[in-house]
Amino acid sequence: MRRTLRILLLSLRLTCPACRRGRMFRDRFQMHVRCPVCGIVFCRDSGEITGGMAINSVATLAIAVGGATLAFVPAIATEALLIGVGAATVAFPIWFYRHSRGLWTGILYLTGAIFED
Ligand SMILES: [Zn+2]
Repeated sequence: MRRTLRILLLSLRLTCPACRRGRMFRDRFQMHVRCPVCGIVFCRDSGEITGGMAINSVATLAIAVGGATLAFVPAIATEALLIGVGAATVAFPIWFYRHSRGLWTGILYLTGAIFED
C-alpha cells in the first residue's frame, strides 16, 4: 500500500515511477517518450493518452459539480458563481493536464503495463 501511494504521488509530481529521478515532461505539454534518466518508455501505445484524459475529465467534472452545489448557498450571487465555475472548468483541465497524464503513467506502471526493458 505504501509503495502504491508513493508511486502515485511521484507520478502526480511528474517524476518517473521507476527511477524516482527522471522528469516525465520536457515542457508544459510535451511528455518525454522515455525517461531521461533510466530510459523506461512512458507511452508504449498510442492510445495511452486517453487514460490521462479520462482522469482529467473526471477531476474537472468533480470541480463543476462541487461548484454547482454552491448554488444552494444563498449568499453567493448566481452570476459570480457561473463565472467562477466556468473559469475553473476551463482553467483547471489545462493546468491539470500534465498531472493527469503523470498519474495515468503511474497507474500503468503499477499494473505492469510500463516496465523496465
Ligand atoms: Zn526513470
